[in-house]
Amino acid sequence: MKEIDYSKYVKQLIDGKLLQVKTRVNNKSHIKVDQEVCRGCVEKICVFACPAGCYQVVVGVLKFSHDGCLECGTCQVVCARGAVKWGYPQGGFGINYRFS
Ligand code: SF4
Repeated sequence: MKEIDYSKYVKQLIDGKLLQVKTRVNNKSHIKVDQEVCRGCVEKICVFACPAGCYQVVVGVLKFSHDGCLECGTCQVVCARGAVKWGYPQGGFGINYRFS
């Protein structure tokens, strides 16, 4: 029996949904990431969990950018070390979901 790789379809679905949102980015991030704590983290699960790709590992160092953040809160929930301090963006900034 042939196995179906659903991840390809899920990625297409998520990419399509991401095209429907607009973000007004504030220069000041609404998420604070404690890099001292992150340095001691091997798993760096935030990199895999963030649907917007806000977390990346570059030459072994965790990089975070709030640009494109979907305000889902996943990064704070999955970080077992408590390195992520999450809040909503200042009024007038952040994600604008359009449903269609
Ligand atoms: Fe990524 Fe969601 Fe965290 Fe924003 S709130 S950085 S989209 S996991």
